[in-house]
Amino acid sequence: MRVLVASRNEKKLKELNRVLNNAGVTGIELVSLRDVAEYPETPETGADFVDNARIKTADGVRHSGLVTIADDSGIAVDELRGMPGVLSARWSGVHGDDAANNRLLLGQLSDTPDERRGAHYVSVCVMELPQEIAAAAGMDTVNVAEGRWEGRIAREEQGVGGFGYDPLFLPDEEPGKSVAQLSAERKDELSHRGKALAKLVPLLERLSRLETA
Ligand code: IMP
Repeated sequence: MRVLVASRNEKKLKELNRVLNNAGVTGIELVSLRDVAEYPETPETGADFVDNARIKTADGVRHSGLVTIADDSGIAVDELRGMPGVLSARWSGVHGDDAANNRLLLGQLSDTPDERRGAHYVSVCVMELPQEIAAAAGMDTVNVAEGRWEGRIAREEQGVGGFGYDPLFLPDEEPGKSVAQLSAERKDELSHRGKALAKLVPLLERLSRLETA
């Protein structure tokens, strides 16, 4: 069965492929937005991660007719009462300016002591099924999976790997190291996105069996 990953980020497609391979799921062919006819995308104006991911899956199902997976993610900082949250990508005011976002966050926490620098990454993955497929599989049309990764915000950037807030995020499992100092494999093992995607595996497995039945 073809499943659309509603993203242009090839890394996300590869990550989900790795998760499926590791779980031994065959019979699911993941395609990205580059592989389907272009369609107009609704702006991501949702109030939370679920809303934003659902905007992307609804577009995908409507325009491609395929089972569609989309994720929305961000970082939630305790001292900022869970913000930047859905505003993570544009916290400094410019979408995708990682360096400016990190500078702003460091400035905001400059007087915050170590014991109050807790934070977590969140990923919400939604898998939406066209109604006839959901009925045939006995599954819900909208399936939501959430993954979290707990850690703390560093006092300065550390490392050059990863993206976004990775140079500032010190995961609980790797004391003293930022995510930007971990290998891609180690990040996959621990990450919020990996955990959310793993929760979708049993559902994808069920879908793969449906077509071969
Ligand atoms: P999106 O879900 O791809 O729209 O990402 C939202 C934003 O959250 C990104 O631009 C980053 O600022 C932040 N973010 C989400 N996941 C990660 C991660 O694994 N590392 C670093 N930053 C992340």
